Amino acid sequence: MVEGFYPLIQVYSFIIGISVGSFLNVMIYRIPNNKSIIRPRSKCTNCSNPINWYDNIPIFSFLILRGKCRHCDTIINIRYPLIELIGGLLALLFLDIYGLTFQFGLFLLLSYMLIAITFIDIDHYIIPNQFIIFGMIAGIGAHVLRLLPISMIDGIYGLLFFGGTLFMTGIIGGWLLKKEAMGFGDVKLAVIIGAFLGFELSVLSLFLSFIFAALMSIILLMLKKVGKDNRVPFGPSIAAGTLLTLLTRTPGGGNHIINWYFTHMF
Ligand SMILES: [Zn+2]
Repeated sequence: MVEGFYPLIQVYSFIIGISVGSFLNVMIYRIPNNKSIIRPRSKCTNCSNPINWYDNIPIFSFLILRGKCRHCDTIINIRYPLIELIGGLLALLFLDIYGLTFQFGLFLLLSYMLIAITFIDIDHYIIPNQFIIFGMIAGIGAHVLRLLPISMIDGIYGLLFFGGTLFMTGIIGGWLLKKEAMGFGDVKLAVIIGAFLGFELSVLSLFLSFIFAALMSIILLMLKKVGKDNRVPFGPSIAAGTLLTLLTRTPGGGNHIINWYFTHMF
């Protein structure tokens, strides 16, 4: 019965996913500037003409307008349709892994939050508290209602490990480098992710985050793109590590990378 509807559910998920992606674009642009994410309607950043609904359809409007504003021909940042596409693809991938379950919704929500945080951190070197508060409420709610595949105690181990390790890294790094090595925003984000993942997946996610951070630092150094104060935001690496962890989940609740590690190392 449900199997027959699966392609339809996929189409719906993708449409909702790209729409959420469109909303993420609004949040990425407005939240760091302390603007309302509900009003007013979006307008062209160059000519300030309001964007009509038919020019604001995720991905499609960008293609129809050939990436330019209808009024002033200013080139629309490719990032907008890209984030919409990521939103749609994540919905499809998570649906495939988790099925039509509460976990699907919860982990998708977490991943959307991570996408928004990634781009805000790249733009502004901050992780806005709005996301932290939202994540805390979602995390506590998910545990109280027992919607996650882990126990509450495991969630506490996860948040202590993930948040605690980053906190210590920040303290030691700051002492060695004589400057702020890890923003407190990163620690708060890690606490939330740890609560969602539990201990085992937190270990994997943290490990992957450090790999992503190292790769990103090397690439940015090679491109000579390291910005002011030589800072490389760590938020995007945490997001990438966590997304990869969530996307490699096995249907049984394990993780492909962890399974691979234990079959090849022991
Ligand atoms: Zn314009």
